[in-house]
Amino acid sequence: MRLLVLSDIHANLEALEACLEAAPEYDRVLNLGDVVGYGANPNEVIEKVRELGDFFIRGNHDRACAATDSLPGFNPIAGMAVLWTRKILTPDNLAFLRQLPHGPVSPYDDVECVHGSAQDEDEYVIEELEAYPLLLKRVARITFFGHTHLQGGFSLKEQSPIPANLTPRYKSAKGKQKEKLKMKKNVHYLINPGSVGQPRDSDPRAAFLLYDMDEELVTFFRVPYDIKAAQQKILSAGLPERLATRLAE
Ligand code: ZN
Repeated sequence: MRLLVLSDIHANLEALEACLEAAPEYDRVLNLGDVVGYGANPNEVIEKVRELGDFFIRGNHDRACAATDSLPGFNPIAGMAVLWTRKILTPDNLAFLRQLPHGPVSPYDDVECVHGSAQDEDEYVIEELEAYPLLLKRVARITFFGHTHLQGGFSLKEQSPIPANLTPRYKSAKGKQKEKLKMKKNVHYLINPGSVGQPRDSDPRAAFLLYDMDEELVTFFRVPYDIKAAQQKILSAGLPERLATRLAE
């Protein structure tokens, strides 16, 4: 079983299409949330991911865009994107967002999916210190998470007091590249595929991963996409300019 793991697409259709084109063969898609928010194509992206399969957990932006309340915890730029998205979503796509399940969800034995963390969908797991207590709980051998928009994650060997950082080291930020991670025995993993639609790790290429369950192999991918087209759509939609400029950083 080969799982294509996507997270934080954020309504970026150009990035999603580039990832799907670059992805090797897979059997199922796991979607870790934040399908919408920030980007200019929320309806098109929702329709595309629904075609890809039925495994989803919600992200904080999905939750906010599906709600009607004010926006606790959102900065003004993210909040404006939520308000814009609420206005443009079709009733059918809004209904889809509303029924997305809260993580954690385990699609297979020893595989768990969350948006932020198993204890809090809004938690940012950025450093070893934050990953350590989660890895100690060892709910599943591998937990896929998103939310930080940082590709990589952490692993913890039994008896070891320090998690290892699994950030892939690409030679450059150009072209399509991949980086393999062979899973080891007696090690637990917290793995982030990175963000499809708004990376925040100083590499503007779209990010995703493939998990081959039989080979026990995680392959991280980075792929270039038409950033200019995505930026132009954000500006034409009247969304904050910062949402366009940050895609290139
Ligand atoms: Zn996100």
